Amino acid sequence: MFRLRHLKRNLPLTLGLLTLVAVLSIATFKAAERYFFERLAERAETSIALQRENLNGWLGRFRALPSVFARHPDLSRALRYPDDFELRDRVSLLLERWSFATGAQESFLVNLDGQVIASSDWSDRDTLLNRNVSGTPQHMEALQGRLGRQFDYGDADGQGERAYQFSFPVRIGTGVAGVIVVRADIDRLEEEMRLSPDEVFVTDRDGVVVLSGQPALRLTSLADDARFPVTPVANLSDGPLSAWELVTGPADRSDSAPREFMHVAVPIATEGWRLHLLAQTGTARTQAVLAMIGAVLVMLVLGLVVALILMRRRTLLQRLTAREREGRLLEQKVSARTAALKTANQRLEQEVRDRTAAEAELRRTQAEMVQVGKMAVLGQMSTALSHEFNQPLTAIRSYAENADAFIERDLPVKARENLSRIQRLTARMAQLSRSLANFARKPGEGLEDTSVAKVVEEALGLLEARLDRAGVTVELGGDFANAVARAGDIRLQHVLMNLIGNALDATEGQDGARIWLDVEQTAQSVILRVSDNGPGVPEQLRAQVFDPFYTTKDVGRGIGLGLSITFNIVTDFGGTIRVDDGPEGGAMFVVTLDRARPLADVAAQ
Ligand code: ADP
Repeated sequence: MFRLRHLKRNLPLTLGLLTLVAVLSIATFKAAERYFFERLAERAETSIALQRENLNGWLGRFRALPSVFARHPDLSRALRYPDDFELRDRVSLLLERWSFATGAQESFLVNLDGQVIASSDWSDRDTLLNRNVSGTPQHMEALQGRLGRQFDYGDADGQGERAYQFSFPVRIGTGVAGVIVVRADIDRLEEEMRLSPDEVFVTDRDGVVVLSGQPALRLTSLADDARFPVTPVANLSDGPLSAWELVTGPADRSDSAPREFMHVAVPIATEGWRLHLLAQTGTARTQAVLAMIGAVLVMLVLGLVVALILMRRRTLLQRLTAREREGRLLEQKVSARTAALKTANQRLEQEVRDRTAAEAELRRTQAEMVQVGKMAVLGQMSTALSHEFNQPLTAIRSYAENADAFIERDLPVKARENLSRIQRLTARMAQLSRSLANFARKPGEGLEDTSVAKVVEEALGLLEARLDRAGVTVELGGDFANAVARAGDIRLQHVLMNLIGNALDATEGQDGARIWLDVEQTAQSVILRVSDNGPGVPEQLRAQVFDPFYTTKDVGRGIGLGLSITFNIVTDFGGTIRVDDGPEGGAMFVVTLDRARPLADVAAQ
């Protein structure tokens, strides 16, 4: 499909090229033909020149003989004395010797009557002796005192020896007394013509072939087309060479198919003949055709090379265009992508700006919230503290006023009673103040190996009065005697007092209230558990109970610092504290501390 369209588009070009090739081929053929014909003509020229030399030499050799022979006195004498047979025999011998010496076929002497009176072939059976040759042209010519010439083609049936005869008058004084004839053998001459690669023949002034290597041609006439098969085709000769023409003629002796020849002819002036040469043009034509084929091949190769170059150029151009198109597409893509990136970048920048603003807002809000939180804590704290301090202060004031009144009324015992109440109240306030001071703890205070048994004993001693009042005995479990933790005596005691105090609060007024304290040692840790069977700490409040000022107790009973302080102390020890469900449903506070000497060390000793 594509090829057809392609061809259609290029049809005029293809036709033009084909025409050009055809024209160039014909022109090449014509030029080559001309060139090779000229070379052939040169060769024919050389060849015919050689043949002419040969023929002229042959003619020259025999033409002079009769005039030379005629001068011999024996010849004229034999003519003068025709009856002297001895003389005639001598002349015959003389002629035989001369003929042999000069290569003439025969020579003979004829009297005025035309009778042969002496002959070189006197010894032959069919000798010419005594024959009458009167009336033959050469006899007539010679009788008129000139050199006579005549062909003798033998008998009518083509038998007998063929010859060209030269005749010359033999004179006695100034008168012609007879004729001497020299026969030149034409067979040998024709044989040489036959051996020539070209067809060589001779015509006389009437256009009749008189000498030819081909017997069939002999005695045919050039003028007679029917008899002579050589017909002119065209006269192409216009060069510096002698005239030549193309003719068709017999191929060779065996083949009668007509062939083309180049015909050249030169005159043989002495005899009034023309020497002809027919050179075959086949080779020259073949060479011209080969040259044309060569030229066509060269043109085809050149055409192919040009076509290849053009195709390659077109492919390169197409590739270049494709690459340019790709480049443009790529550029478009890049610019589109760049624009998209720019937009995304702007969006991102906007987002960053928004985020920064939001972050600033958040930070401001957080700061505000912290502030609010601080204020809330401060509020809780001040409320709790004011209650905690106001109550004893109000009591102290009324006790002081009462003491003052009792002193005035002179009731010192009662006044002292009030004063000791004031002392207890101030002691309680001092205790509260210490708790607050403890809250502002100093973390990293030195740790020491602390005997858990000793600390438990002291804490229980201090709580003895409260425990007795509540009627609760703390149940101990575990190997207290060997439990030694990394802690501080007073602070760990504080922790235990807080936890047991809270358990007492939680189980206050409860029938069958129970509190357990047990210890467990692992390889690395000492674990203390304080459990009760009170209401426990609900799951959702378990994180909150360690916050400062978190309390569920009534005013004057707790300010929510106990667990917070406990948490801080345990954390300072490097331990942990958590609240869980107790074994009987109450709360269980679990304190985990580092073991004073890890088990591995103990084992190592
Ligand atoms: P306070 O004892 O002054 O209330 P704490 O910090 O010691 O402050 O305790 C905070 C709160 O944790 C208590 O008010 C109580 O609600 C709860 N709590 C502490 N121990 C127990 C316990 N053993 N059983 C139930 N609730 C407890």
